[in-house]
Amino acid sequence: MARATRFVIYVLAVVVPIAIALAVVGTTPSLLEKVPAEHRDTVAAIGEGAVRISGGNGGIFRSQEANAADTTIPGAPRPLHGEWSPRRLEDYPPPAGLVAGVDYSLEVSEDGYVAHWPCDHEIPVRSFDAPPGSEADLAWAVETLAFASGLPLRYLGPGTESDREAEGALSVTYGDHPEFHGTDVAGVGGPTVWPRGLIMRGSVTLRPDQIGPVPGDPWTRSLTLHELMHAVGITHAVPYGPEVMAERPAYPPQVLLGYGDRFALHVVGCPGPPTG
Ligand SMILES: [Zn+2]
Repeated sequence: MARATRFVIYVLAVVVPIAIALAVVGTTPSLLEKVPAEHRDTVAAIGEGAVRISGGNGGIFRSQEANAADTTIPGAPRPLHGEWSPRRLEDYPPPAGLVAGVDYSLEVSEDGYVAHWPCDHEIPVRSFDAPPGSEADLAWAVETLAFASGLPLRYLGPGTESDREAEGALSVTYGDHPEFHGTDVAGVGGPTVWPRGLIMRGSVTLRPDQIGPVPGDPWTRSLTLHELMHAVGITHAVPYGPEVMAERPAYPPQVLLGYGDRFALHVVGCPGPPTG
């Protein structure tokens, strides 16, 4: 049976420009040390930009077979309970002033639907091998994302081995990744997208040496939020744009959601509680 899982991992190519390293050197002295010697005399961002990896070979994030079968799509999982419905991109025209593919981009499943998580059950977010001082910024990023999107994300703190890459959850690992070797990539993140755009798992891997030891570091926050946004189905806005999802980071790093970010979160998000 063909695997329905599709891993899409986007890479934030960073490059810790020296200006950023200098700006944060007071709180993260380790950053400047990490800037390779040949980069220390340049402020230009270099790197390969976004690398898109498609295909379900499971080589990067281990795949797990779905627990439940959808009756219409053999092998596909279904939300744990309650309602879930596919969304079409054409049903979400951007508001005036925003341009799709420029200010925001959305993950679309191979069969043409907007990738998004179910809204009707909690999405646990757990950390793995988190370095000291990182927890507050991860909690901040999860809260920011939940507040702006309405997604029922909930930061649960460090996970156990059995929670790693769990179905229905978003796993944030601090550690090594093949994409980090010989590159300036600072983190990767992405959802597992099933037919009709159903997301039932998200994975983020952050390079520990890109995480400041003191909470509140703008680069740490921007990177963490960026990769989490990949995991909820948002892809890149144009490089250096005023969006957290810019393909290459602006300077200073964006820690506030841009208009494009906000609209993308609306499309993949969940309606808020009824008002009035
Ligand atoms: Zn990215």
